[in-house]
Amino acid sequence: MVDRLRDALRDDRIECRFAEKHNLFESGEAFSEASRCHGCHNAPCIEACPTAINIPSFIEKIASGNKRGAARVILDANLLGASCARVCPVEVLCEGACVYKHTEKPIVSIGRLQRYAMHVGGGLVDFEPASPTGYSVACVGSGPASLACAGRLALLGHEVVLYEKSDVPGGLGVSGIAPYKTGAADTLDEVEFILSLGVELKTGVEVGADVSVEDLFARHGAVFCGVGIGADRPLPIGCGEIQGVRGAVEWIADLKLGALDIDSVRRVAVIGGGNTALDAARECAQLGAELVSLVYRRGENDMSGYAHEWDLAKAEGVQLLQHAVVTSIEEVDGCLEMGLARAVSGQATDESLPALQVDLVLVAIGQEGAASIPTIFKSVRCDDRGRILLVDDEGGTHHDGVFAGGDAVNGGREVVNAVDEGQRAAAGIHKYLMGGNHG
Ligand code: SF4
Repeated sequence: MVDRLRDALRDDRIECRFAEKHNLFESGEAFSEASRCHGCHNAPCIEACPTAINIPSFIEKIASGNKRGAARVILDANLLGASCARVCPVEVLCEGACVYKHTEKPIVSIGRLQRYAMHVGGGLVDFEPASPTGYSVACVGSGPASLACAGRLALLGHEVVLYEKSDVPGGLGVSGIAPYKTGAADTLDEVEFILSLGVELKTGVEVGADVSVEDLFARHGAVFCGVGIGADRPLPIGCGEIQGVRGAVEWIADLKLGALDIDSVRRVAVIGGGNTALDAARECAQLGAELVSLVYRRGENDMSGYAHEWDLAKAEGVQLLQHAVVTSIEEVDGCLEMGLARAVSGQATDESLPALQVDLVLVAIGQEGAASIPTIFKSVRCDDRGRILLVDDEGGTHHDGVFAGGDAVNGGREVVNAVDEGQRAAAGIHKYLMGGNHG
């Protein structure tokens, strides 16, 4: 199944031009790095991991040559341990908490060790699903939250079907993660692993259009909603129709999966100061754009993007236009001219700044909530930003039998947060089904 999906990926997609962020450890390197871990009691690295992977335990297994055991420790806590090893911001999670931070010595490379463990041991791990419960669950969407939820439910003995509206499963793992961190084909490997646990995948099926929630409940005892987040928020100056002005998330999806004319783009402006803006700016810089400007309405220290990502962006040549607000964008002589005003406390003033001429504008000022959620799941309640409101910490919503997790709930956090929420929802669904007469 996944081979067919992998064949559907275009060979000429731009993401194939990117080099990987870190090389895979050789076994000798992994052994010597693993040997540096102190195996701390009450290890702060575990505390800092949203899925509480027993990091010293898997590292000790690498050091003792137990490849399968190392991977098993990771997967027992996090079914998407392979993806997380590549895409987690370890600088602010496990590695940021490592006790070596208080010494002159380098921090233990936990992320690279996890990637090594999954690479050499992931295929050796055998899972034995529990006896069939007779219950069935629908997972709507096939991004990290749904994959993690589906995998856990399958291991608990439930029948699980993933409903994905796109032809390619994987959600943001396939279409949104920076390509120097992970490629679409890597994510499909992980989809294949989840399917190997007994999960069924239906692609090209949109819940709310092709099947209704009532249809889902006719077949399934519970539904997990992991549909992610909505479209890029547009600039409030009405320039959405101008060719060359793109939402950053939509543009990154084209970069990862589709066709994109990037070779004629020399000058790029990315509007925003968050992690999506930094990803888009770094991608343009790495693809060879001569000038990449980050236009941000506040100051450098106010940016919501990770400081380590901004440091890398600066090293790659990205320039910051801080305290600047875009007031207009016009097509002039084949390029885009951006009018700018100085901003104070993030608000535009009457003071104009020099205009900026670019070939491409990427807008990364946030995303809308998934607009379809209230119309599809009528009793599910959302906050004023369109995020699903939960009634407990195991994914329960105001709609009986509907659970949720991932970006649709948290508004757009890391893959590891989506995995954690998906797995906790699986525990909630299991209790819901096994404690009552559902299905
Ligand atoms: Fe090992 Fe660092 Fe975790 Fe301690 S904090 S167990 S040294 S990885």
